[in-house]
Parts: sequence; C-alpha cells; structure tokens
Amino acid sequence: MDETKKIKRTKTKIIATLGPSTDNYETIKKLVESGVTVFRINTSHGEPSEHAQRIKMIRDVEKELRKNLPIMIDLQGPKIRVGKIPTPIAINKGEEIILEHTTEIKEGIVPVDYKSISKDVKVGEKILLDDGRIGLRVTKIVGGKVYSIVEHGSLIKPRKGINLPGAQASLEAVTPRDKEYIKFAIEQEADYLALSFVRTAEDVKCAKYYTKAFGDREIPIIAKIEKPQAVENLEEIIVAADAIMVARGDLGIEMSPQEVPIAQKKIIQLTNIHKKPCIVATQMLESMMEEPIPTRAEANDVANAIFDGTDAIMLSGESAAGNYPIEAVQMMATIARTVEKSDFIKTDYDVDLIEELDPVSQAISNSAVNLSKKLKAKAILIFSEEGYTPPIISKLKPSVPIIVVTNSYHTARRLSLFWDIYTYVDKNCNTILDEAMFKSIDKLLIERTWIKEGDNIIIVNSVPKLMSGKINAIRVHKIGEDN
Ligand code: PGA
Ligand code: MN
Repeated sequence: MDETKKIKRTKTKIIATLGPSTDNYETIKKLVESGVTVFRINTSHGEPSEHAQRIKMIRDVEKELRKNLPIMIDLQGPKIRVGKIPTPIAINKGEEIILEHTTEIKEGIVPVDYKSISKDVKVGEKILLDDGRIGLRVTKIVGGKVYSIVEHGSLIKPRKGINLPGAQASLEAVTPRDKEYIKFAIEQEADYLALSFVRTAEDVKCAKYYTKAFGDREIPIIAKIEKPQAVENLEEIIVAADAIMVARGDLGIEMSPQEVPIAQKKIIQLTNIHKKPCIVATQMLESMMEEPIPTRAEANDVANAIFDGTDAIMLSGESAAGNYPIEAVQMMATIARTVEKSDFIKTDYDVDLIEELDPVSQAISNSAVNLSKKLKAKAILIFSEEGYTPPIISKLKPSVPIIVVTNSYHTARRLSLFWDIYTYVDKNCNTILDEAMFKSIDKLLIERTWIKEGDNIIIVNSVPKLMSGKINAIRVHKIGEDN
C-alpha cells in the first residue's frame, strides 16, 4: 500500500475555494495531499460550465486518492450591487450622494441594481459600499431616490457590493440565479449548499424547500452568518440548518470588525451545542494572496478559530485567486496540527444530553468516549448509514480519532466536514460483526490508517443490523483478533 494513501490526521478540516489559481487536476490533487478535506465552489464568480469542470476534477482526484471529498456550492444570495457607471466616482466625507434603482446613467445618481432600495432603508440608517470602504448615512428618501451623507469616502466603482446592515431587506432569500445553481448542485450531486445573507430560519427552510422541489434528495444547507439579524436569530437558524459558517467578510462590514471575534465565539459555541459542524471563513491567511508566508496575526487567527472549537477553517481568495494556494493550505495544516497537540484544546467532553437528539445515541456516544480513554484505544469506529451518531461523538472531542464506515458516499462526504472524523465507504458493510467482517475492518484500518495489529479500537454500531439512528451497542476489538 502506498503510504501517501494513508490518512494524515489533521483534526481541523480545511476548506479550499477553487478558482483560476487552482484550475487543474495536478493542483487540486496537491491541495488534497497538503490537507484540503472540503472544496468550495463560489457561484458569485464564474459560469456553471467552469464550475462543472472543477467538480469533475475533484471527483477524479477523489477516486485516485481514495478519499471522500465533500463539495460545497456557495450560493451568492441576495447581494445588492452598484449598477453601471462609466468611470469611478470619487466621493469625500460630508458630500451628498443619491442612490436610485435604475439601469440608466444619470448625472449625480449612483445606480443600484435592487428595486426596493428606497423602500427597505430608513432615514438615519447606514449604507455601506465596496466592503465597507464607503460609508453613507441616509438623510431623506424622496420618490425612489435615497439621499445620503458620506461618512467615509473612497472611489465608487461599478458592480461593487452594497450592504444594508440595518434594513429588513425584502429581498428573497433564494434569488432566481441561486435557484439555477440549486438545480446545478442537484445535477452535480453536491454535498453541501452554502446560503448567503441568511436572516431567519425561514430563509434556510426556503432553500431546503427548493432542494427538495428540484431534486429527490435534500442537500444539507450551510447557513452563512453574515448579517446582524442572523446573529440575533442564531439559535433558530442553527436548528434549521445542517451546518454554520462564520462568514466574517460580510459580518465585519454589517456589524463592525471589533464585534466579529465575540460573534465568532458565540456562533461556534452554540453550533457545537447543537452538534452541527461550524466553519470559520474569510481572510484567514489573506496576505498569502501575495506572499508565501502569513502575518503573525493571521497565524494567530487560524489558531484561535481552532481554540474557539470550530470544525473547519476556510480559504477563499487565498486558494481561488492567490499566488500561493498550496503554501496557504500547507500553512493552515501546519498551524492546525501544532495547535491540536497543545494543552489548550479540551478533549473528552462529557456533556449533558440535549432534547433534540435520541438519548440512547447520546448516552452510548458518551460511554464510547470514556471507554476509549480508559483503554487507550487508537480509534472509535462507527458503522453508520445516514450519519446520525458520528456528529454526536465528534462534538465530544474524544482524544482518539473517529472512523466512520458507511455504505453511502453521501453520508461519508457529509461527515467529512466534522472535526476529526475520517470516512470509508464499504458498500457491503453491515453490522453483523462476524469473523469475516472483523478481518475486513482490520485490513482497511491497517492499510489506510495509523492503526496497527494489537491496537484496541472501540466499535459503536447497531445490532442486529445497520439501522439509521438506532445505535445500541459498544464493543472493544483488538486488531488482529477474530472478536
Ligand atoms: P463570501 O462569504 O465570500 O461569499 O462573501 C464569506 C464572507 O462574507 O465572509
Ligand atoms: Mn459574504
């Protein structure tokens, strides 16, 4: 067996956004070998045909390296933008600026591509342009025109984003463009859909509705927390969604940068309580767009996200359009492995049961973690069909890794986003633990992991057969023995 096909244990999962800097098979393969476990396709850029090519390459790399690589399709959501202007407009503090929904070029007017702008904002509210580089304060609204005073100025350029942090924007959560990409995601068998600018649990339910209406399989939804309203409605959003992203780019614009670290801790903590995976995103290694090494502050940021208890850390521009995509992944992986070995990562949680989840699965999970600690086992192995129990075990952060054997590629890929979970698909796997099954587990583990003959592992499963959500047994198995 080729040693490179063995799994390397980086507990924190690394997500890389694909783009022009990483658009070839060899680079994608190298990203995986350097530590990428999840790929993000950003539909704010590019065309479906380009994305389809990327997905094809990921699936080919997946086969060659025998990994389960989840693909996240990130929907642009209701993003408001500056319309067409012939040349950038310089604006200064104290000047008056008028915004209007129009496709025409009008003297003294900044065109906006959103028709309800004058209905959604109120006098006194802020409007931010170009990632917050420009700050406006609304002074009056007359006949579809929004008058504002510049609080901090810069150059207004065409197609730049507009954020309305205070407004209850009446924008639909899933735009017509997003609907097309939901269909695309179904066709491409995407593993996660990321939903931008989520405000309420209803937004998440709306996206879920479309995944079911257009396809026969519900695609798990990652709610991107990037609006103050989403932070206010955090718990209901976490309950409705399948995963959460701390989308610090827009969050830092819509709230303010100093509020993001606190929001990050709060979001991660609550997501962990609900046993869903959490992702920390944006500008983690931003300077590596241009430089082969990060700033010390960025290295600290990656480490702190892990200390905060995130499951995954994400690269955006760094891997999609930067000069050092591979180095950025290697850097993240190195920081993660170093931090994970430190004394500041709390492991072996023993938590109270929560009402949302089956008490038997939770109690068995707690016991499996305790047993693994007492027996110095080398892994907890779970047989799972739909992946109900593995998240519960992952959130207890056992000091040993979690190996999931499943008969479903979808389950394997979905679970690969969780902290310290490694997945294998065995189409014939069942939970009748006879001699043949033990032999095949042992072979798999010895070939593909760090586990050796004579090691103890803890097995969690359902008897008499593999049944979703019906975990009811724990046993200890010594590798190489028939029982
Ligand atoms: P984006 O989302 O990159 O799609 O804007 C992430 C963020 O806002 O941080
Ligand atoms: Mn965003």
